[in-house]
Amino acid sequence: MNVLFVSAEAVPFAKTGGLGDICGSLPRELAARGVRCTLVMPAFRQALNCGQPIEPTGVEIVVPIAGRPVKGRLLKSTLPDSDVTVYLVDHPGYYDRAELYREDGEDYKDNCERFVFFNRAVLEVIERFVPDTQLLHAHDWTSALSTVYLRTERGRTVDYSNIATLFTIHNLAYQGSFWHWDMELTGLDWKYFNWQQMEFYGKLNFLKSALVFADTVSTVSPTYAKEIQHAEHGCGLEGVLQDRAEDLFGVLNGCDYGAWNPETDPFIAQQYSSEYFVSGKAACKQALQQELGLPTRPEMPMISIVGRLADQKGFDLIAPLIETYAQRNAVQWAILGTGEPKYHTLLTELAARYPEQVGVRLEFSNPLAHRLEAGGDFFLMPSRYEPCGLNQMYSLRYGTVPIVRATGGLADTITDATDHALNNGTANGFSFFEYNSDALGSTIERALSLYRSPDPWRRLVRTGMNQDWSWRTSAEQYLHVYEETMSRLP
Ligand code: ADP
Repeated sequence: MNVLFVSAEAVPFAKTGGLGDICGSLPRELAARGVRCTLVMPAFRQALNCGQPIEPTGVEIVVPIAGRPVKGRLLKSTLPDSDVTVYLVDHPGYYDRAELYREDGEDYKDNCERFVFFNRAVLEVIERFVPDTQLLHAHDWTSALSTVYLRTERGRTVDYSNIATLFTIHNLAYQGSFWHWDMELTGLDWKYFNWQQMEFYGKLNFLKSALVFADTVSTVSPTYAKEIQHAEHGCGLEGVLQDRAEDLFGVLNGCDYGAWNPETDPFIAQQYSSEYFVSGKAACKQALQQELGLPTRPEMPMISIVGRLADQKGFDLIAPLIETYAQRNAVQWAILGTGEPKYHTLLTELAARYPEQVGVRLEFSNPLAHRLEAGGDFFLMPSRYEPCGLNQMYSLRYGTVPIVRATGGLADTITDATDHALNNGTANGFSFFEYNSDALGSTIERALSLYRSPDPWRRLVRTGMNQDWSWRTSAEQYLHVYEETMSRLP
């Protein structure tokens, strides 16, 4: 099977969140199972500077944007430890910028044009390098239009109608929504701008377009696949998703244990395994306390948080609790993230007010993310919604007990430490359902209480560390979805 991945992000080239992790590891996992995978992504500044060898292909492309020809180039690299070829669509005017999509809390004004160019360039990659593509696997709104072009454009040498298309939603809330005149930029006929296809509340909507045009749709956990068919999590697109229910799959993301494993992690103070973790974790906690300028107190429970500072992640619930626990001097907090300016201000203030309890780093740092995973006793993710979530799975492997809200992939991976689940050995964390501070607060209290009972606590930690959330199962499920997708072709 020949599969072309289309994604804006893939580790180690570019990443702002889980999408980068997934598109950096899934093609490699599938390639190891005999699928021929190729990846195409924009040549963002981050990608060009990531340290991977990148070569020119010598191929110049000309892409129509609103009918005028715009030139770019195709560059080439490989995903590390694999034979997956990566084509990078280069156009410095669009992609040589400080960030991928937005700066200072504002989306780039020309995002529509930047990603029209990218999605049209995908056709050039198919024509010139991978004409035998059987399945195109597009990810999120930034890659959505590739599924539309394959059904609306005629290939020069390739018959696009023979290429099956799968669109994966990593987060339904980011849709790529632009004013209607941007339809001109796409070069697509205005006949597609209607409520059943590309239009949504008067705007051009990239993500919706893919939900309509792709042969099949998937998302990154079984629970999120159900949730998005209802108003609470459907972001207005629940009706479109209900219409596609027969073609909608939920496949949980896998963890890349090559990168996230405390036995081999080069970033942490002391490596450790599920058999001997007590002293290793203690050393990591002490090093983290020192790094964040917190007093080194081994007995103090440490709660880690890593992630985008966005409403989605539940920061409105977390903020008052940080204050409460800091005042009681009952917990230390290790927080790493970047995102909405209001949370930058809030967390900076809390760190200044409670320097002995609250350690905050407002940056994007992969090594530090590893140290928070290793040094924490708990990892907190009280998300409003969570399509899959990766950090809770990393935390399990690092023996850092997740406290989560039971939604999306968090519900699919975390089994709450009820008496029953503790007794039968299935508990691996703590979860709650109601989205409010009281529910979160009482769950943290339950967690702290178990933390003070060494034997059941260690059993809980060890259960999580020994679980396997690797790509093994997920990759097999994707192969099944690929077969289903190809069977949809006439
Ligand atoms: P999302 O994709 O919604 O942001 P996920 O939990 O699926 O959330 O994935 C987030 C990924 O991004 C994880 O690998 C996490 O460690 C990483 N990450 C998020 N923020 C930061 C940060 N400030 N520094 C380092 N890594 C981060």
